[in-house]
Amino acid sequence: MFKKKGVQMRMFIAMLMVAATMMTGCAQEQRQAKAATPPQQTAKYVFFFIGDGMGIPQRTATSAFLGRELCIDKMPAQGITTTYANDRFITGSAASATALASGQKTNINYIGVDPNLKAVKTVAEIAKQQGKKVGIVSSVSIDHATPAAFYAHVKTRKMYHEIDHALADSGFDFFGGGGLKDPTGKKSKKPLGDALEKAKKNGYKIIDDKADFMALKPGDGKVLAWNNWLQDGKAMPYVMDMTNKDITLPEFTSKAIEMLDNDKGFFLMVEGGKIDWACHANDAAASLKNTVAFDDAVKIALDFYNKHPKETLIVVTGDHECGGLTVGFAGTQYASNYDLISAQKVSFQKFSDEVMKRFRAENGDKASFAAVKPLITKYFGLKFSGDSKADKLVLKPFEVEMIRSAFERSMTGQKEESSSPETYLLYGGYEPLTVTLTHVLNNKAGLGWTSYKHTGVPVSTSAIGVASETFNGSYDNTDVGLKIMAVLGAEPKVQHIN
Ligand SMILES: [Zn+2]
Repeated sequence: MFKKKGVQMRMFIAMLMVAATMMTGCAQEQRQAKAATPPQQTAKYVFFFIGDGMGIPQRTATSAFLGRELCIDKMPAQGITTTYANDRFITGSAASATALASGQKTNINYIGVDPNLKAVKTVAEIAKQQGKKVGIVSSVSIDHATPAAFYAHVKTRKMYHEIDHALADSGFDFFGGGGLKDPTGKKSKKPLGDALEKAKKNGYKIIDDKADFMALKPGDGKVLAWNNWLQDGKAMPYVMDMTNKDITLPEFTSKAIEMLDNDKGFFLMVEGGKIDWACHANDAAASLKNTVAFDDAVKIALDFYNKHPKETLIVVTGDHECGGLTVGFAGTQYASNYDLISAQKVSFQKFSDEVMKRFRAENGDKASFAAVKPLITKYFGLKFSGDSKADKLVLKPFEVEMIRSAFERSMTGQKEESSSPETYLLYGGYEPLTVTLTHVLNNKAGLGWTSYKHTGVPVSTSAIGVASETFNGSYDNTDVGLKIMAVLGAEPKVQHIN
């Protein structure tokens, strides 16, 4: 990919490598200095929360939207964490999760392996070897890049079938959240058999029903549980689309704690995966509400911490920022109107999958713009008449034109892929009407988006509990993994597996 872009890109990469080497040099000095400090404190219970795509703007906007501090912002230790990958400045979830899980900087899409494809041990595997129980929870599929990087070692995140088998072989005690993407190997060249059958043979109780899930009790053995409704890509639904039939991220976290609690302690990783997916689609309402649920899941861990403050560490970080979310927008100047976000009633996903699908079925491809206006008002709160000075949800003429133009594109069924640079900037490959509606509403609220992908800004890392002070300051994502190793009582260095 880089070759095509020629010398300039190679020079840029070379500069990045120099910068990366310099950063590594600084980190080594820090680690040497730490050798002289008092013995490392260790924790019996370690929680590792990862907000996928949760950068500083996501945290700031969610807090402003709620009108209060998040639990994670009140933690005593706060750090700034760089996220770059080995071979690209703007990282992806696989490379970043590998860094966070193992302390190893690696390439884009690599899972649990170094740039030479050698497997590296993860903090979850270290905890398991120590006799602790281990749990992995994610709101997206449980074989997605972030959770996979704690138990699998494969050259690309897309090897879902191999990852599913690694899950079945992991020996970990609790998996919960989203489903599996390729247990039977439909997309694999060399299918390994049914990973779910293997998981059953290896002692996992497989659950996809809320009542059965809630009835789980310690002593029921190993668990692989997912929410019954998997909305997109085998992921749990967006928080704003959930009903009381769905299992929430805090409920998965609470049950994981109940099932993992034992005399030898546990390690629990919880990922808020759809914070990222909503940011890719530039949907602030969906992202912020998922961030609230993520913070509520942390609160469940804080309740546990309050009962075991001298034996527990909770670490919270993001793997990277996503969407280039900015807390401020040219159209609103200095104003912030985050209450407008509440006018949106469904996620972008539900609006395009369900509302617009029904609209097309009922009205046909030649439906008029007038016909869709009531749906826009119902689901996004945006109004086509009234005084825009008195009511911020009233659309200005230029905003109506943007929406009309996107609607016409949507109705002609044109796929807005990256082949046209102009339409890519407008719609990012998403359903044109839906992404335009979130843009208009988010902009009115005073939020701006600059990308449909991740960005390179650093993230916040927060911690409370045993040795949490080691998470103060500024450090790299690989250091997060090494610091957790130290708190587990292991040597804080990358460990290759054979
Ligand atoms: Zn992403």
